[in-house]
Amino acid sequence: MTKRDYYEILGVSRSATEVEIKSAYRKLALKYHPDRNPGDETAEDKFKEATEAYEVLKDPQKRQMYDQYGHAGLEQGAGFGGFSGGFGFDLSDALRAFMRDFGAGGSIFDEMFGMGGRSSRRQRRARGEDLRIRIELTLEEIASGVEKSIKVKRMVRCEECGGSGLAVGSSRKTCPQCRGAGQVRRVSRTFLGTIQQVMTCDRCRGSGEIIAEPCKVCHGEGRVRGESTVKLKIPPGVTSGNYMTVDNMGNVAPNNGQPGDLVAVFEEIEHDIFTRHGDDIMCELPVSFTTAALGGTVTVPTLEGTSELKIPAGTQPGKLLRMRGKGIPHLHRSGRGDQLVQVVVWVPTKLSAKDKQLLKSLEKSESFKPPKANKSFFQKLRETLGV
Ligand SMILES: [Zn+2]
Ligand SMILES: [Zn+2]
Repeated sequence: MTKRDYYEILGVSRSATEVEIKSAYRKLALKYHPDRNPGDETAEDKFKEATEAYEVLKDPQKRQMYDQYGHAGLEQGAGFGGFSGGFGFDLSDALRAFMRDFGAGGSIFDEMFGMGGRSSRRQRRARGEDLRIRIELTLEEIASGVEKSIKVKRMVRCEECGGSGLAVGSSRKTCPQCRGAGQVRRVSRTFLGTIQQVMTCDRCRGSGEIIAEPCKVCHGEGRVRGESTVKLKIPPGVTSGNYMTVDNMGNVAPNNGQPGDLVAVFEEIEHDIFTRHGDDIMCELPVSFTTAALGGTVTVPTLEGTSELKIPAGTQPGKLLRMRGKGIPHLHRSGRGDQLVQVVVWVPTKLSAKDKQLLKSLEKSESFKPPKANKSFFQKLRETLGV
């Protein structure tokens, strides 16, 4: 299989900067990510291909090898050590690479699935971590929608120094490692010659300044462990796995940077009576065989209390009765699902002598003879109802 040119795959020029490469890859990865294209093999291949190209071009050494020798350069290079990976990529390698560089926090999922009203990406120097919490909801809460106040443990601004990280009365000083440039040069020798790399200074993290005398409370970080109460207004109709993003309620960044976001993921608690099928709910209802035979009205539990339900005369066990509009409200449109009630004809287990006598007299009646054995009655019923 001949491989396509890595620059061509990402749609960048051969002189593209690291930032251009990253941004081009990011766009492609979001477009072809398997979570967004389930079961689509072409998209999966494109995702893998783009990730492979990115893994090579973002790495100055691999990129130089590739520029000089093409794909063959990388394959040969593998023998020298330090050049492992970069080809023979499988999907899990690709997903790991993508998550490593872009997956921190919930923001990437917002962009992939477009939920929550986040503003477009801001230029962030230092941004606090996004936090993810799980919110358990009962089926009743899901049906009605609910407001919840949640206590969230998070990093908050240090009151002592106002977030600056500086001890009272002290100030910032020029970083001695980069002398204020924020960047350092690193020269490495390889068999191809010397390679010079410009890297962000790790002492000052690129700011060019350091805190000489750190705040005693936060040790210079500008933030401390704390707790906040977050109010969430959860709309009716959500499902396990749906989530909401609350802007700026994640961890506060060190030294007054941009705070991260809070991602609240919903989880439905199993209900005692109902099972959920999309926006329909279902329960079993035992009725006496006299009610099933004669018909009648029974009381059925619903998500909002109880409701009366008519049982037609001659109702067979397993019959599904539909109560329109008693299910879960639809999330993004009006209306709601139904409640399906499956009739279970209950057979009494304790009979008085008088009961027995009455039943025995009925047993001989022609209309009490059941039909012959046949293909599963319930099976057919389920097929027609599609449940
Ligand atoms: Zn520095
Ligand atoms: Zn402090």
